[in-house]
Amino acid sequence: MAERKGDKDKPCEIEGCSAVSERSVSAKKVADSGLEISKRSGKAHLCKDHYKEFKKKTKKDRELQRLGW
Ligand SMILES: [Zn+2]
Repeated sequence: MAERKGDKDKPCEIEGCSAVSERSVSAKKVADSGLEISKRSGKAHLCKDHYKEFKKKTKKDRELQRLGW
C-alpha cells in the first residue's frame, strides 16, 4: 500500500523555523502581521506556535484599529 504525504508534512515557512506546519493561511496576511516570512503571495504554512502568534498579532491589530490608532 502506497502512502501519500500531504500538506501536513510541509515545514513552517516562517524564517528560521522548521517545525511541521499545522495550518495554512494567506502569506500576505502573515507578512502584514509582522512575522518574518519570505513569501508574500499564495498560502503560507505555519506551525502551531507561529499560527498562534499570527492570530495574536492580527487580533491586536484589530483592537488597535478599534481604539483609533
Ligand atoms: Zn513556525
